[in-house]
Amino acid sequence: MAGSATPLTPGGLVVVQPLRRKRCAGCRRGPLPLLVLEDGVPRCLDCADLGHLVFLPRGDTALTRRAREESALSAVVVRFNRRRGRYERQGLLVEQEALGRAEARCLADAEARRRRRARDARRRAVEDERFAAAFAAEIVRLYPGCPAERARRMAAHASARGSGRVGRSAAGRALSESAVISAVVAAVRHEDTPYDRLLMSGVPRYEARRRIAAAVAGVLREWEEMTGVG
Ligand SMILES: [Zn+2]
Repeated sequence: MAGSATPLTPGGLVVVQPLRRKRCAGCRRGPLPLLVLEDGVPRCLDCADLGHLVFLPRGDTALTRRAREESALSAVVVRFNRRRGRYERQGLLVEQEALGRAEARCLADAEARRRRRARDARRRAVEDERFAAAFAAEIVRLYPGCPAERARRMAAHASARGSGRVGRSAAGRALSESAVISAVVAAVRHEDTPYDRLLMSGVPRYEARRRIAAAVAGVLREWEEMTGVG
């Protein structure tokens, strides 16, 4: 063995990945990829009655825990780290059937999580749709002349999840009048005025807003007065 001390872990069998070439003291087979130390003497897994176990590398915590739970017989696989001067866990030897059951349990969990995510996504979509509809209704209430389709589009845009837009803000969620007006003003600015073109041509934002202010006010006035269409 590379390490002088026997790698002991409390309450469990330990199997070693040897750093140097070792032969089994019982059947003389070797070099051994894995061995068990019995009274300081290396034995192969078959001679140690562990030959039927399969190796599960470390890394998947849930699978490891479950495989150990499912397996009547299991062993921790360790390797000596010369630099650190200690044995380090490489994985687990477990019964084949136990590993299968553990994998099935993990898969069932993953499936349950997937279904829950899908359910949550559907619920959010319904909420978003309701909210956008309420938002659109509020737009039409404040601006009866605004075409219904346009109101729907503005509401959907303002309330898009993850957009950080006014519809997602607290005031927007509460459908405060100022939040709704802000969303409408923003939409009119971009769609009904040369605002975007001004910005692209290097006009500073405040100056661009000043130039289009009359056009925005004109559209809003029209929408406030006219009877809704569409
Ligand atoms: Zn042997």
